[in-house]
Amino acid sequence: MADQKLLEKINKLREEKNAVILAHYYVDGEVQALADYVGDSYFLAKLATTIDKENVILCGVNFMGESAKLLNPGKNVILADELADCPMAHMVEIEKIEQVRREYPDVAVVCYVNSTAEIKAHSDVCVTSSNALRVVKNIINKQIFFIPDNNLGRYISKMLPEKEFIFHDGFCHVHKSITKEAVEKAKEIHPQAQVLAHPECTGDVLELADFVGSTSEIIDYATESEAETFIIGTEMGILYELEQRNPNKKFYSVGHRQFCPNMKRITVEKVAEALETLEPKVIVLDEIAKNAAKPLQKMMELAK
Ligand code: SF4
Repeated sequence: MADQKLLEKINKLREEKNAVILAHYYVDGEVQALADYVGDSYFLAKLATTIDKENVILCGVNFMGESAKLLNPGKNVILADELADCPMAHMVEIEKIEQVRREYPDVAVVCYVNSTAEIKAHSDVCVTSSNALRVVKNIINKQIFFIPDNNLGRYISKMLPEKEFIFHDGFCHVHKSITKEAVEKAKEIHPQAQVLAHPECTGDVLELADFVGSTSEIIDYATESEAETFIIGTEMGILYELEQRNPNKKFYSVGHRQFCPNMKRITVEKVAEALETLEPKVIVLDEIAKNAAKPLQKMMELAK
């Protein structure tokens, strides 16, 4: 439990500094509890555009701060911990994108939002885990280079046989650590439970799932479902929101290794410090920001 005095300090600073605190579902529950809004990365970045506050404190990893800055260039976006970084967000080289473009001149480069602003700037269209299928279906190009996440790309490719996919080998180590064997074992222990998995999991895990969806889709599904027990195949931080919304249902993670060490860097103390100093601010260079905004804009058009 967070220290009461510290929480009072945060509440006072939040007012004084005209700030809003946004937290991702994967940060610790006590950070989610003090946030003004909790959600997935793109939801938070978009939400910030509707909030009349000068300072946005982002409790999540670097690429989320960049997305928030790209959509809110006139606001200060401050990271609760600038060392919280997502390895997958860097898992494609610009040279690789250029090489694929040379080999496949008609290709559309589709970039999962879990990537750096620089990678987005070299892409044609962005996708989130919830809109990837709809967006890629609406792209006119037949050939799709899907970056950086291999698992999400393969998952949607199965539903789009009319497209020709070129996959990349990026992955989220947290979702990759969830194995088919561990899901089978969890099902043996909780035979009545439904398995809900994120599409960043490997294909053999997704085959065992009763439902595959983004973090917010998993939360909505579990909340609306008549089932009472669920095995959760994504980062464990999501259990906080699931339990808040569904106090009478039971949620189990597949195993004990499902936590993202970068998301867990964010602490209540660091949120207080970020509010106090309003540092470190996210900076995206103008040239990168201009080019990274285009694929995000394209995503919004194609997701309609
Ligand atoms: S859970 Fe995976 S995709 Fe999300 S920030 Fe951590 S490493 Fe990156």
